[in-house]
Amino acid sequence: MIYFSTNKTSIPVSLKKATLEGLAPDGGLYVPSEIPHFSPEEIALLEGASFNNIAFAIAKKFIGTDIPPDQLSDMIDNCYNFDTPIVQLNSNTFVEELFCGPTLAFKDYGARFLARLTGIFAAEEDKLITVLVATSGDTGSAVAYGFQGIANTRVVLLYPSGKVSHLQEQQLTTAGGNVHALEVKGDFDDCQRMVKEAFVDPFLNKSLTLTSANSINISRLIPQSFYYGWASLQLKERYGYNNPLFSVPSGNYGNLTAGVLAKRMGFPVGRFIAASNANDSVTRYIDEGRYDPHPTITTLSTAMDVGNPSNFARLRYFYHNDHASMGRDITGIAISDEETKATIRSAYDRFGYVMEPHTAVAFRALERYRNSGNDAEKSGIVLSTAHPAKFLDAIESALDIEIGIPSNLHELMEKKKSATLIGSGYKELASFLNGLDQ
Ligand SMILES: *Cc1c(COP(=O)(O)O)cnc(C)c1O
Repeated sequence: MIYFSTNKTSIPVSLKKATLEGLAPDGGLYVPSEIPHFSPEEIALLEGASFNNIAFAIAKKFIGTDIPPDQLSDMIDNCYNFDTPIVQLNSNTFVEELFCGPTLAFKDYGARFLARLTGIFAAEEDKLITVLVATSGDTGSAVAYGFQGIANTRVVLLYPSGKVSHLQEQQLTTAGGNVHALEVKGDFDDCQRMVKEAFVDPFLNKSLTLTSANSINISRLIPQSFYYGWASLQLKERYGYNNPLFSVPSGNYGNLTAGVLAKRMGFPVGRFIAASNANDSVTRYIDEGRYDPHPTITTLSTAMDVGNPSNFARLRYFYHNDHASMGRDITGIAISDEETKATIRSAYDRFGYVMEPHTAVAFRALERYRNSGNDAEKSGIVLSTAHPAKFLDAIESALDIEIGIPSNLHELMEKKKSATLIGSGYKELASFLNGLDQ
């Protein structure tokens, strides 16, 4: 399979190059030259298959012969050594819990796959890849734990001192081994500026092979289609539902774009609800056909606070820049913080189910869609992107209950923080990177 840039001016590349490069040289995002397709017979054969078998079948179509099947299968088992539960709330409403990985958020699905693929490609090239990331929280922790212990790779992550939660800081600073955390005396913008300077520093790039592992990497996107395929087939097999609606809590729109891939591949996936918070640039585009991104607004569902989503370029590309065509597959619904809080309460009262804010936004959007007379009978799946324990404050402000903390979180909180404190000048980052083993 060949990958080319959404900007169409860079030359097409292999998956290896697209993965190791991240962004195309023309500034576009890599997309597969064609979306692989499963025939109805192939889909029928996957009914009843395990998550990992479905993941393998999809990955194989994108990877082709670039990785031998046995190695790919081992890699998938190593990535997804945790469950992907689907919980029924009422007769036709389900929650797919994507938070059972090591960092308790759905970003583990993409980061773990990307890390292992990067390790395999780096070994083939006999290279040591240095992944450099600036993070304000969740992405960094999924990357840190994704790349932990992966040969031929190491991670250097920069986070703003005092500006991430205690839990996030523990996740960023305790992976150890090949993962180095830099605590920057500055804010997130400083971290991002320093990382950008490193990528264009000719001296540094002579001695190190840097890559970014951010959410625009095609190898983070592909694996996110696995859980759409899995849920669509599980609903069919266990409950007889076909083409369920998927409500997707969206920030950079990688998650939703992966859903579109699964649908195009031929999985029985129905309409998407793009659930956003007050950051509604895409929702407005779908309704009005005009893309007019606003500055980012801070909300309760912080991981979705994105004014100008990076994966929107891919989504647009897949719909040929046509908002009406996008609107035939996707309904955009924006949910306020007030509604999010009220939803956390009502979901708990009605189902005894605790939702963190991102999940609540998606649940509420599905409800609102059905209440306006659409597909009320149809089955619907809410993607739950984080464990409630990650957003205790928001939940406790809405509910008067104690939330159980999963055991792996207890262990995490006990671990010893290991980070190097540096100033916010680029020279300090450069000297740290130059001091790493070659
Ligand atoms: C990153 C994130 C999102 C948004 O996902 P996108 O793929 O950026 O749209 C939603 N919820 C949580 C908890 C996240 O960490």
